[in-house]
Amino acid sequence: MAERPYIVGNWKMFGTRAMLSEARAIDRAAQRYMKVEVAVAPPYTLIHAVHREAEQIGVGAQDCHPGAEGPHTGDINAAMVADAGAKFVIVGHSERRQDHGETNELINAKIDSAIEAGLRVILCCGESLETRDAGDAEAFVLGQIKSALGSFEDPAERLTIAYEPIWAIGTGRTATSADIEAMHKAIRGLLDETYGPDASADVRILYGGSVKPGNAKEILSLPEVGGALVGGASLSAESFLGIVVAASETEDA
Ligand code: PEP
Repeated sequence: MAERPYIVGNWKMFGTRAMLSEARAIDRAAQRYMKVEVAVAPPYTLIHAVHREAEQIGVGAQDCHPGAEGPHTGDINAAMVADAGAKFVIVGHSERRQDHGETNELINAKIDSAIEAGLRVILCCGESLETRDAGDAEAFVLGQIKSALGSFEDPAERLTIAYEPIWAIGTGRTATSADIEAMHKAIRGLLDETYGPDASADVRILYGGSVKPGNAKEILSLPEVGGALVGGASLSAESFLGIVVAASETEDA
């Protein structure tokens, strides 16, 4: 399994400059938990400011346009977020798939552009409750990953997968440990098959969906769970750091 647990805060469409004090608090405290890799993805408007605050934590973007510079009003591309200080980009979040109709093909193009810009990629995947209830969750999630990755190479350096069942995001519901374990194992199997076990071993598979200080240790201790993508609980330094502490107490840390 790959190196340190990876705890990533996804601030979504939350945060003005008033949030910089939270970023500072997260960064300073993260320096006490060096066995955990900590990062946040603020809205575009705060990337540069958080980057300037950050001595320890990584800073990333929540999305990017797949194209080069051009006439795309309101869009921001991978080179631009890298220039602002982002080191990674989240792609394929279910909220973008839902709100903006993003397809796996588009997500694949975003991954290519992110790699071209020198960014690491966190690829999100996850099924709806209907898909899970129909017994199709695993096939659906593996299908999402396969088509979004396309001919992606060099996974160890660049790739993180985040498994986030849609019905667990922002709802207070988490998947059962057995469900998380089974899906992470299936994703690992796909990565092994695609890249070979050596290269795949360095790709962390995060879990996301209502992770909080109270449930983090149990989730983070599951086999093949290499960290967490955290939405709501990343908006306050106190709750986010509770998850970082839990990660530091797991055996792999
Ligand atoms: C997310 O949006 O990536 C997420 C996991 O959100 P939450 O932690 O709020 O469920």
